[in-house]
Amino acid sequence: MGFKYHPKCKSQSIINLCFADDLFLFSHADMTSVKILNMMPFEEGKLPVRYLGVPLVSSRLLNRDCKLLMEMVRNRIFNWKSKFLSFAGRMQLISSVLVRCLLVNKQSLWVKWIHSYRLEDRSFWDVMVSPNASWSWGKLLHIRDFIKDHLIYKIGNGGNTSAWYDIWNDHGRLVNVLTRRNIIREGFNGNEMVCNIMHNGNFNWLATWLTEFPIPNNIDPPCLTNKDDDVLWKDLNGIVSEFSVYKVWETIRPRATCVPWFNVVWFKQCIPSHTFVVWLLMDTRLKTQDKLKDWERNPNNSLQCLMCNGQPDSHDHIFFECPFSAQLHMKFGQLAMMLDWYCSWKSTRDAFIPFAARNLYRMVVPKIVFAATVYFIW
Ligand SMILES: [Zn+2]
Repeated sequence: MGFKYHPKCKSQSIINLCFADDLFLFSHADMTSVKILNMMPFEEGKLPVRYLGVPLVSSRLLNRDCKLLMEMVRNRIFNWKSKFLSFAGRMQLISSVLVRCLLVNKQSLWVKWIHSYRLEDRSFWDVMVSPNASWSWGKLLHIRDFIKDHLIYKIGNGGNTSAWYDIWNDHGRLVNVLTRRNIIREGFNGNEMVCNIMHNGNFNWLATWLTEFPIPNNIDPPCLTNKDDDVLWKDLNGIVSEFSVYKVWETIRPRATCVPWFNVVWFKQCIPSHTFVVWLLMDTRLKTQDKLKDWERNPNNSLQCLMCNGQPDSHDHIFFECPFSAQLHMKFGQLAMMLDWYCSWKSTRDAFIPFAARNLYRMVVPKIVFAATVYFIW
């Protein structure tokens, strides 16, 4: 009826908007075009209506029109423990989930659109990053290096797994072994799925490949079933299991080696504000005067410990050697049965470490007392 397809949506025959369980018919505003309303039990509506919070308007959608939907998506993303991830980490998480959708949900409208206008019959793993690629598409392509070894194919009917580009056997991508040139030269087009290279339960390998390349000989033919192929996730320990956002997060979240004094600082009963200062002390990160003196421009300004005026303070002085601190430790150390440990932060730390992981009150009380003393001295 004279409508044009939405830009770059001709192959999906999208003229406007499609939804899972609602039908919107758009027509010219004349009697001939709307006769269908009289024939079917449809109600005539008026624009704009809202769907998923987004107004359906006949003109181009603006940023403010999508604000509500963007908020919903944003909230969902922030629920992914994203407060523990950097922006780059969140980007990896979102991109990993989208790539998995791209590989599995072939019936999705978005995936069909990507295949028509972005991939154009090429494998996702093979397509080049164009300098004109959009920001979001570029991000999906750049994540490939990171996730290529984590996405593992589980063959069902073999109809959704690229024989050459996807990892579906223990030897990795066949294109890396056989090379794309060899594959094309032997009459394949590069788009074959696993089911296309099998016949009667065995592979259709070319005789020349079997003599030239050892790997095709060593691949066990998968047993094709009626189920769709699936894409699983391989974690850092090499364990392959069902794909989930949690597992991706566990794989990409930043990790550091656990310091030996971890249990001295962090324990279930700790008081967070006290623990934070102890943490900085253990790592010698407090801005004590011995560190600040290098920044002092005026040589006449002599930095002195505020409690004894004897010398510039340092981690050892302010918490252990200073007479004022020593008195505090003497007093509270006696109460907590740990008098001998207070001579330096290093000896205190080393004395705590062997027992710190135990949750006995004889260990927990000294740690709490120590942390409180350090906090109030600082
Ligand atoms: Zn002092």
